[in-house]
Amino acid sequence: MTKFIFVTGGVLSSVGKGIVTSSIGKMLQVRGFKVTAIKIDPYVNVDAGTMNPYMHGEVYVTDDGGETDLDLGWYERFLDLSIPKENNITTGQIYQSVIEKERKGDFLGRCVQIVPHVTNEIKYRIRKVAEKSSADVVLTEVGGTVGDIEGLPFLEAIRQMRLEEGYDNTLYVHVALVPILDVTGEMKTKPLQHSVNELRRIGIQPDIIVARCREMIDKEALRKIALFGTIPEKAVFCSYNVSTIYQVPLILDEQGMGNFICQRLKLQASQPKWDEWKSFVKALQNPKYEIKIALIGKYAGLVDSYVSMNEAFRHAGAECQTKVSIDYFEAEIFEENEAELETLKEYDGIFIPYGFGSRGAEGKIMAIKYARENNIPFLGICFGFQLAVVEYARNVCGLKDANSTEINPETPHPVVDLMPEQKTVTYKGATMRLGLHEIFVKPNTIAYRLYKSEKIYERHRHRFEVNPNYIQILEKHGIIFSGKSPDGRRMEILELPSNFFFFASQFHGEFKSRPRKPDPEYYGFVKACLDRKLGKDTPEF
Ligand code: GLN
Repeated sequence: MTKFIFVTGGVLSSVGKGIVTSSIGKMLQVRGFKVTAIKIDPYVNVDAGTMNPYMHGEVYVTDDGGETDLDLGWYERFLDLSIPKENNITTGQIYQSVIEKERKGDFLGRCVQIVPHVTNEIKYRIRKVAEKSSADVVLTEVGGTVGDIEGLPFLEAIRQMRLEEGYDNTLYVHVALVPILDVTGEMKTKPLQHSVNELRRIGIQPDIIVARCREMIDKEALRKIALFGTIPEKAVFCSYNVSTIYQVPLILDEQGMGNFICQRLKLQASQPKWDEWKSFVKALQNPKYEIKIALIGKYAGLVDSYVSMNEAFRHAGAECQTKVSIDYFEAEIFEENEAELETLKEYDGIFIPYGFGSRGAEGKIMAIKYARENNIPFLGICFGFQLAVVEYARNVCGLKDANSTEINPETPHPVVDLMPEQKTVTYKGATMRLGLHEIFVKPNTIAYRLYKSEKIYERHRHRFEVNPNYIQILEKHGIIFSGKSPDGRRMEILELPSNFFFFASQFHGEFKSRPRKPDPEYYGFVKACLDRKLGKDTPEF
């Protein structure tokens, strides 16, 4: 019998539900259970792919090419899973299929309603994940905050699941903020109480409450939460601020949450095995070295835009006993004032992440030139890869005004161009080249030393590519394309053997990076930054 755990949030969004959900998964996983996680996003978009990262944070890409909510990234990193796109359920998807069924005549003669038709579709999708994953426990996180209009059908669906699956097989966890007043230092539980009331009004009584608070909640706050939440004190837990997010499952388990959940769901648990996780946390907390990286992007104002990249740096850093500090630069500042480039001299590495559109592109190209000419370790991802090609074409191959047609459709040298199969695409949703694709890695290259394999699979999200007509001239001038698609047509990795470390990829290694299993390109870059800082002649990977 599958067990279902539902996680809701109260008071405000961004309260850390995704981390609590991932942490619950981890607590169960270390006790020997197979888990999977679902994220429900109540917005009407079919998926996150059409949203600006500034609005919603990064778009997380799954193996099967889903453009999903970034919480799926947290589930994958914490649980070391590859989660399919069906695990991200949105209002858009639910309505799309209900309306399609209505048009086909599946409900012929009936009036189609939120209850039961929409709620049935929601429950059907949750159960389908349970069936396909064969997980012992399915975690479902409901995005947004309790009380949001668009979240109501989802809360109604999970309410019904208690009736249908039974008390022993369902558990409701409510995560809500407990603010501390600056002036008095008092912990205020009233907003949390209200959000629990709101949940109960909908018909859901939480089994567990997680208070998200700056500090460990005191006895008085705990007593009030339990009393007004109508749950025993031992069902109240606190997610307080910690030095790394990866500590959260540990602090919740120390408070007894893992055992409580197993007892409540009648799960026969084995002794939790935390050793590996703890050794990772310890490595993160005790670095021997530090490197400073300049990230040059255009969504630099919102850290969530680059969350998988940040985490990939953390995973790579932990392997090199190195703290990776990242400073964010808006690329446009270099266009406005070239002298700003000199500030990059203080950095151990220059990193250009993914990106879209022309704003800031010239600034990024300037930074790449600076990295190449000053032999500062460089890593470019996707757009960063394409712009490295543009920079090289212009400044080394002498192709004046070379560009990507994404930036300048009139360029005389379109060294990066729309992929042929994209030319007829008009729909924007889920139409990029997405997800896992096979790549052949050339022996005797840096790529081969890092990946240790001639065949790799990496996740993609792009419409443009290196124009095959320019490969010969680029190679003649010294670029090594050390990773290509199996037919040899599509360029996937580039490197410059003349530099200490100059590496870029069309794919996104960050999506596959995990604690203790850092992604090879991020690892290679971090190690190169460190080794150069330590005065070595070549990077030692
Ligand atoms: N805008 C570029 C493209 O569509 C790069 C995309 C990216 O960086 N993910 O190909």
